[in-house]
Amino acid sequence: QGGRPSRDNLRAPRASFEFFPPKTPAMEEQLWSAIRRLEPMRPHFVSVTYGAGGSTRERTHATVKRIVDETALTPAAHLTCVAASRDEVDEVIRGYHAAGVRHIVALRGDAIEGPGHAFHAHPQGYQSSADLVAGIRAIGDFEVSVSAYPEKHPESPDLDADIDMLKRKIDAGATRAITQFFFDNDVYFRFIDRAQARGVDIPIVPGLLPVQNFTQAASFAARTGASVPGWLAQRFEGLDNDPETRRLIASAVVSEQAAELIDRGVEDIHFYTMNRADLVYAVCHLLGLRPAAGASSQPAG
Ligand code: FAD
Repeated sequence: QGGRPSRDNLRAPRASFEFFPPKTPAMEEQLWSAIRRLEPMRPHFVSVTYGAGGSTRERTHATVKRIVDETALTPAAHLTCVAASRDEVDEVIRGYHAAGVRHIVALRGDAIEGPGHAFHAHPQGYQSSADLVAGIRAIGDFEVSVSAYPEKHPESPDLDADIDMLKRKIDAGATRAITQFFFDNDVYFRFIDRAQARGVDIPIVPGLLPVQNFTQAASFAARTGASVPGWLAQRFEGLDNDPETRRLIASAVVSEQAAELIDRGVEDIHFYTMNRADLVYAVCHLLGLRPAAGASSQPAG
């Protein structure tokens, strides 16, 4: 506890990478440059988010389809049950199955008005994330991942209510949870202990957010209920106009966090890439992941 992770024993984790569907041709180019750069790292899977209220339904599908058609990667499609009937959601699920996708990240999603507003299920829709998990499993042979919140979901009265929700999702057929991002590893391990004590028996994969931009990360954190430790703010202090140093610090911070997780027994890590490869590539390299033999290790472009 509190010691420096022993680098000699560092075992490369199994990594997964999360992307969001692009809105513009320039964003599309950035996304695909990131995917191409990270592809040789042979991630366990890459996931593509689903915009609030289903706003990216077509773009998520198009991105996932292109990953299937043009890469050797295994995609996971995020899906929510906001503002859509069961028939509409089922059609999306069947579309993924027909496209060869076999992994869905199933979420309730936020109220159409945005996070912080009360969620109301569509009258003919899936009523909860657990309901959606069951629906997906009934349609096809999908692997289903779900969310977990080590610092509790903002709408949840307490951590145990969250863990009970996680158990409902597992009972419905979820086989992996991916956490909201966090910066303090003790928060994650305390959550794992508590979830396991309440009978959660699926892997709970830590989700790490490389801090590309501290102000933005702090605002995300405020919205999602993730705490920002004082030491993290301190590390980025005074660097608002110094993006180069910020990037070096960000790489050190996420590498340190990931290395400590592995040192404490974690085998899988999910990275929120924000469609940028550099920091994630660097931390994966540091953790011992290497490009497939023969693949280029040069930065794209
Ligand atoms: P759930 O796990 O169903 O619920 C979270 C908690 O909220 C529960 O534990 C419970 O305590 C409380 N709660 C839920 N429903 C109720 C209710 N009816 N009454 C009282 N309390 C309730 N959002 C997107 O829009 N698109 C994405 O692609 C996306 N990907 C995500 C990926 C990950 C790994 C994570 C962690 C989150 C993602 N989100 C995404 C955000 C997510 O949609 C929101 O956090 C949403 O508010 C909750 O959805 P959920 O499935 O996590 O909720």
